[in-house]
Amino acid sequence: MPERTESESRKLLRRLRHAMAEDIAGQARLNNITELTADSMGTEVCSIYLFRDEDTLELCATEGLQPEAVHETRLRVGEGLVGRVARTGQPINTANAPAAPGFRYMPETGEERYSSFLGVPIQRLGQKLGVLVVQSKDAREFSADEIYALEVVAMVLAEMAELGAFVGEGAALRARHQQPVMVRGSTGQEGAAQGHAWLHEPRVVVTNPIAEDSQAELDRLAEAVDALRISVDQMLEGARTGDKEQFQVLEAYRMFANSKGWLRRMEEAIGRGLSAEAAVEKEQSTARARMAQVGDAYLRDRLHDLDDLSNRLLRILTGQGNHTGAEMPADPILVARNIGPGELLDYGRSLKGIVLEEGSVGSHAAIVARALAIPLVIHAGNITTEALNGDHILIDGDQGIVHLRPDETVAAAFRDKIAMQAQAQERYASIRDKPAEALCGTRIALHMNAGLMADLPSLESSGAEGVGLFRTELQFLVRNQMPRRSELSALYARVLDAANGKRVVFRTLDIGSDKVLPYMKPNDEPNPALGWRAIRVGLDKPGVMRMQLQALLRAADGRPLTVMFPFVAQYEEFTAAKAEMDKALARERILGHAIPETLEIGAMLETPSLAFAPDRFFREVDFLSIGGNDLKQFFFAADRENERVRKRYDTLNVSFLSFVRDIVRRCEKTGTELSFCGEDAGRPVEAACLAAIGMRSLSMRPASIGPVKHMMRRIDVGKLNEVIETAMASGDQSVRPAVMEWLRRES
Ligand code: PEP
Ligand code: MG
Repeated sequence: MPERTESESRKLLRRLRHAMAEDIAGQARLNNITELTADSMGTEVCSIYLFRDEDTLELCATEGLQPEAVHETRLRVGEGLVGRVARTGQPINTANAPAAPGFRYMPETGEERYSSFLGVPIQRLGQKLGVLVVQSKDAREFSADEIYALEVVAMVLAEMAELGAFVGEGAALRARHQQPVMVRGSTGQEGAAQGHAWLHEPRVVVTNPIAEDSQAELDRLAEAVDALRISVDQMLEGARTGDKEQFQVLEAYRMFANSKGWLRRMEEAIGRGLSAEAAVEKEQSTARARMAQVGDAYLRDRLHDLDDLSNRLLRILTGQGNHTGAEMPADPILVARNIGPGELLDYGRSLKGIVLEEGSVGSHAAIVARALAIPLVIHAGNITTEALNGDHILIDGDQGIVHLRPDETVAAAFRDKIAMQAQAQERYASIRDKPAEALCGTRIALHMNAGLMADLPSLESSGAEGVGLFRTELQFLVRNQMPRRSELSALYARVLDAANGKRVVFRTLDIGSDKVLPYMKPNDEPNPALGWRAIRVGLDKPGVMRMQLQALLRAADGRPLTVMFPFVAQYEEFTAAKAEMDKALARERILGHAIPETLEIGAMLETPSLAFAPDRFFREVDFLSIGGNDLKQFFFAADRENERVRKRYDTLNVSFLSFVRDIVRRCEKTGTELSFCGEDAGRPVEAACLAAIGMRSLSMRPASIGPVKHMMRRIDVGKLNEVIETAMASGDQSVRPAVMEWLRRES
């Protein structure tokens, strides 16, 4: 079989360019392309199949098959050889198509006469657009060069599709970006929002897929790669003085930028007639298709690095920066594959919502989104390829659903939902300055959880009595290197200033498990949630804890200070941590610094073991706060980050509720101040039940204070307690049904 030469490919591309430049309608242009390709490849047939909708392909043009089949023949993804190419994103090359697994005979096309089949995906940056096929009568396998040549044609087609170059009557592609799309992801942060899509990394538009002068394109590529390498070297230089881990990551990045294979493959594509940017994109598409199939998380991350480098290279080549000149809409919904917490903070509260293709509930971005109370949907399919800047978009953080370019019925229903939310907000605002006092006169103190400076204004607007949990790790997570003591103390001082005399409970660094600092060596632990985390790290490596305690003492500068140690599992851990505080205090005294007017030291009760600690522990702590998120995961042995098991066990399950009630009773007996600061504190029904079993202080997200207060003011907690006691006594697994029934009757 004759080898296909580079010059043949180039000739084909040149002819394609002429075909594209002709002033003809889309269908005629498609027909031209199939004719040229079949001719150049020496095959009887060349056909273009395009996606009609998410899972249907349509024959849109053909040379060699029955013309009547065009726009008639349709296939499901996965069906027949064409459907298999579409599903896997991989070429199929066979000398005997009718015998190949999955072959489907379509009489209207007359294709049974053809023995060899070569199909390649038409895709653009991982987005599947269709399949390009050549077939011939003689039974032959296509050579690697021929496959490559057809892939290059598919690449050019993909670019044309993106530009709408051949979109005519009945064509599928432009419609794809105009149709409503619903993407089902999962909840990252509750709430509904509507606005217009703002792509974190807008797609670079490649307008010239075919080279006019290959040598000039090779030169452009070489120049751009040089510029890329210089910028990576500069990044590396900047990181040299910083953290070792970060440096190593960047070194891997540099290795990719210098990879000969990467450059060679792009040069080859130019040799075959593509422009420099089209060559980069072709390589990127292949890498993305590979990325989708790689199971190994580490390898996927490396492919991610490569993808990132390709984006940089494209930006250098096209001169299109991160900001393509498009204006950010007034109501932006950020759409991104993933985003770091620092970048998210840069956008700040200007965002109405966030949709991520990746991300996880425990990711840093999710933590920041939650802190900023911005609705967030994660795992949202391939939203970055579906969405275009400025698209109308609705996000439902409660259900984890995104509607892109919604039709009027969906948009109207959504407007109702948002209006109801607004009404509820008004109701909450009207009780902001009133106490959370139940009908029976019982008062519940409502505090808020915080972690960023940006949270502090909510102290005033939500009507919270104070900050019941200040998660100090957020400040560590959003940085690239360990913050200095002076920075921390300035920050804590600003927090105290902003709190204006209201109590702030600073929780010392709670890292480990899902919260991994980018500049700390990750521990390869089989069970990080049960591993070396929080106070365990603090006590084993006391340097950071001492620095943080000092920063807190300095920040207080004589004002009252409240500190809480996380994840205490036994009495001695608390006494050891407290001893560190005593040392820090002694040091401050020696240095002549002001000592806090009052100093309260508490612990979080997040492991069942602590509920059974000796009485003296309960007497020694100044207060306890139940970290319900962790306590529940250990009580039920159900990972809080694992969607499959997380929702399986109800907080209102009798075993858990009676366990919490026992803790309440112990604290009453020992006179220990107790509060509850897990997510359940912010859920009105759960909060009501906690109040009913005797909890008098709750700490929650600022947005939950209104709904919880509204609930408290409508009920008699004494009566609710009777309902709970009766349900418990009757052997129910959960008190929820009885409680819900009672609430329905009462309100
Ligand atoms: C908890 O575990 O309930 C808690 C409040 O701490 P975090 O969610 O930060 O682990
Ligand atoms: Mg916890």
